[in-house]
Amino acid sequence: MRVLVLGAGVNGLTAGVRLAEAGLQVDLLARELPLETTSSVAAALWYPYLAEPRERVFAWAQRSYDEFVQVAATPDSGVALRSGTELLRELLEDPWWAAAVPDLTRVKHVPTPYRDGWSFTAPVVEMPVYLRWLQRRLEEAGGTLTRMALPGLPDHADLVVNCAGLGARLLAGDDTLHPVRGQVVRVEQVGVERWLLDGSEPTYVVPRSDDIILGGTETEGGWDRRPDPQVARDIVARATALVPELAGARVLGHRVGLRPARPSVRLELEDRAGHPVIHCYGHGGAGVTTSWGCADEVLALALAV
Ligand SMILES: Cc1cc2nc3c(=O)[nH]c(=O)nc-3n(C[C@H](O)[C@H](O)[C@H](O)COP(=O)(O)OP(=O)(O)OC[C@H]3O[C@@H](n4cnc5c(N)ncnc54)[C@H](O)[C@@H]3O)c2cc1C
Repeated sequence: MRVLVLGAGVNGLTAGVRLAEAGLQVDLLARELPLETTSSVAAALWYPYLAEPRERVFAWAQRSYDEFVQVAATPDSGVALRSGTELLRELLEDPWWAAAVPDLTRVKHVPTPYRDGWSFTAPVVEMPVYLRWLQRRLEEAGGTLTRMALPGLPDHADLVVNCAGLGARLLAGDDTLHPVRGQVVRVEQVGVERWLLDGSEPTYVVPRSDDIILGGTETEGGWDRRPDPQVARDIVARATALVPELAGARVLGHRVGLRPARPSVRLELEDRAGHPVIHCYGHGGAGVTTSWGCADEVLALALAV
């Protein structure tokens, strides 16, 4: 069976890997290559965020957590397991996704102005490294990747898998899909090992091997991909208040990504006048977190076509 996968972000590549390693002939077509996608901008901490519905997101995220633990043991994958803390400004129950992580504990002493917090080990995915690793894994399994901007869903393959992210707005005619703009600042690594998150702003500090990603913003309906210098200054100030070691850290770059948001992730098989299409888009702020679970479901749907 020949499968055309649309999109070379984390969802297209991960689904492509699963399908190709299952023995299907997989060709990825994408307007933006992996390092140009929204996926390459992601921080990218395993954390279920801005994605619904909870039951499915929980299952996908849990499955992905387990897979990332294995991938982290693979050299050069760009995935590392790091412990860190989310600080909270109010007292809350354990998060709804707590059972997906092995070691969530409450923080006993939180700094002012916080009132509560939890710590856990999370996969941190260094996206530029990881996306290239996924591409190599796809190609080693016989898959291909070609740059191509499509005006609509193709109808000449045995199966199309639509992982076009925000591009599915056009390709699938889906007006419920909209951007939630996110801006980040990349600074030099100054010895920070743990990630830290203040979910209320949201502000996050995500250390990687050679740099640190500082965030963030969450602008509903924002389409502008240009970094805003004032927003960048605000991000650095908020992140430095959270992690004082960041004071004076050299800024290496600015990125903006448009999260593909939707009332709920669309992962389903559609029969388009005899042409099967598996849609897999609308992962909001959790596309990395859910990627392996979604790819497994795409494979199961594909094998049933
Ligand atoms: C600042 C920021 C921080 C984030 N942090 C995290 C995080 O910590 N953890 C996490 O899990 N998630 C995070 N996310 C969310 C995550 O980045 C997204 O959910 C994820 O990247 C979506 O991946 P995707 O593969 O579905 O789409 P994309 O990465 O957007 O890829 C879509 C692909 O489809 C292609 N395409 C679109 N239209 C067409 C067309 N007409 N023809 C051909 N190709 C087309 C594109 O060119 C691209 O290759 C963050 C996002 C941002 C912006």
